[in-house]
Amino acid sequence: MSLTWEPQWERVKVSYAGMTVETCRDRVTGLLLCPICSDIDKICPEGKVISVVSEEMSVFFTPEDLIHHIRTHSGTWYSKRIKPVMREGEGR
Ligand SMILES: [Zn+2]
Repeated sequence: MSLTWEPQWERVKVSYAGMTVETCRDRVTGLLLCPICSDIDKICPEGKVISVVSEEMSVFFTPEDLIHHIRTHSGTWYSKRIKPVMREGEGR
Protein backbone atom coordinates (compact mmCIF):
# COMPACT_ATOMS: atom_id res chain seq x y z
CA MET A 1 0.00 0.00 0.00
CA SER A 2 1.44 3.34 -0.93
CA LEU A 3 0.29 6.58 0.55
CA THR A 4 0.76 9.63 -1.56
CA TRP A 5 -1.27 11.85 0.71
CA GLU A 6 0.99 14.28 2.52
CA PRO A 7 -1.27 16.28 4.75
CA GLN A 8 -0.27 19.56 6.31
CA TRP A 9 -2.11 19.64 9.57
CA GLU A 10 -2.86 22.95 11.14
CA ARG A 11 -4.76 23.75 14.31
CA VAL A 12 -8.21 25.15 13.67
CA LYS A 13 -11.47 25.72 15.44
CA VAL A 14 -14.60 24.61 13.68
CA SER A 15 -18.15 25.38 14.65
CA TYR A 16 -21.35 23.63 13.83
CA ALA A 17 -24.79 23.82 15.43
CA GLY A 18 -23.54 25.88 18.34
CA MET A 19 -20.58 23.63 19.13
CA THR A 20 -16.99 24.71 18.67
CA VAL A 21 -14.30 22.08 18.43
CA GLU A 22 -10.57 22.57 18.28
CA THR A 23 -8.94 20.11 15.96
CA CYS A 24 -6.53 19.68 13.04
CA ARG A 25 -7.34 20.45 9.43
CA ASP A 26 -5.32 19.39 6.45
CA ARG A 27 -4.38 22.37 4.33
CA VAL A 28 -4.10 20.13 1.28
CA THR A 29 -7.47 18.40 1.29
CA GLY A 30 -9.40 20.43 3.87
CA LEU A 31 -10.12 17.24 5.80
CA LEU A 32 -10.89 17.60 9.49
CA LEU A 33 -9.53 15.25 12.08
CA CYS A 34 -11.50 13.81 14.97
CA PRO A 35 -9.72 15.19 18.08
CA ILE A 36 -10.90 12.24 20.16
CA CYS A 37 -9.71 9.44 17.90
CA SER A 38 -6.35 11.15 17.42
CA ASP A 39 -4.04 13.09 19.69
CA ILE A 40 -4.20 16.52 18.13
CA ASP A 41 -1.36 17.77 20.31
CA LYS A 42 0.92 15.40 18.40
CA ILE A 43 -0.59 15.86 14.97
CA CYS A 44 -1.03 19.61 14.96
CA PRO A 45 0.73 21.22 17.90
CA GLU A 46 -0.20 24.86 18.31
CA GLY A 47 1.57 27.00 15.72
CA LYS A 48 3.18 24.13 13.80
CA VAL A 49 2.33 22.38 10.57
CA ILE A 50 3.20 18.69 10.54
CA SER A 51 2.73 15.97 7.96
CA VAL A 52 1.50 12.82 9.67
CA VAL A 53 -0.69 10.03 8.42
CA SER A 54 -1.95 7.37 10.77
CA GLU A 55 -4.36 4.52 10.25
CA GLU A 56 -6.24 5.43 13.40
CA MET A 57 -7.20 8.81 12.08
CA SER A 58 -10.84 9.56 11.54
CA VAL A 59 -11.22 12.35 9.04
CA PHE A 60 -14.25 14.24 7.83
CA PHE A 61 -15.03 16.54 4.97
CA THR A 62 -17.28 18.95 6.83
CA PRO A 63 -17.66 20.32 10.37
CA GLU A 64 -21.14 18.79 10.34
CA ASP A 65 -19.79 15.29 9.76
CA LEU A 66 -17.10 15.80 12.38
CA ILE A 67 -19.53 16.94 15.04
CA HIS A 68 -21.94 14.12 14.34
CA HIS A 69 -19.02 11.76 14.80
CA ILE A 70 -17.89 13.46 18.01
CA ARG A 71 -21.36 13.03 19.44
CA THR A 72 -20.96 9.29 19.09
CA HIS A 73 -18.04 9.37 21.52
CA SER A 74 -18.63 9.05 25.23
CA GLY A 75 -20.32 11.84 27.11
CA THR A 76 -17.45 12.16 29.57
CA TRP A 77 -15.03 13.46 27.01
CA TYR A 78 -17.70 15.63 25.54
CA SER A 79 -18.43 17.50 28.75
CA LYS A 80 -14.75 17.73 29.66
CA ARG A 81 -13.33 19.01 26.42
CA ILE A 82 -16.11 20.86 24.69
CA LYS A 83 -17.80 23.71 26.42
CA PRO A 84 -20.42 25.97 24.98
CA VAL A 85 -18.73 29.08 23.72
CA MET A 86 -20.22 32.31 24.96
CA ARG A 87 -19.04 35.35 23.11
CA GLU A 88 -18.81 38.66 24.88
CA GLY A 89 -21.43 41.14 23.83
CA GLU A 90 -23.53 38.67 21.89
CA GLY A 91 -27.06 37.60 22.53
CA ARG A 92 -27.89 40.14 25.17
ZN1 LIG B 1 -13.57 10.07 16.81
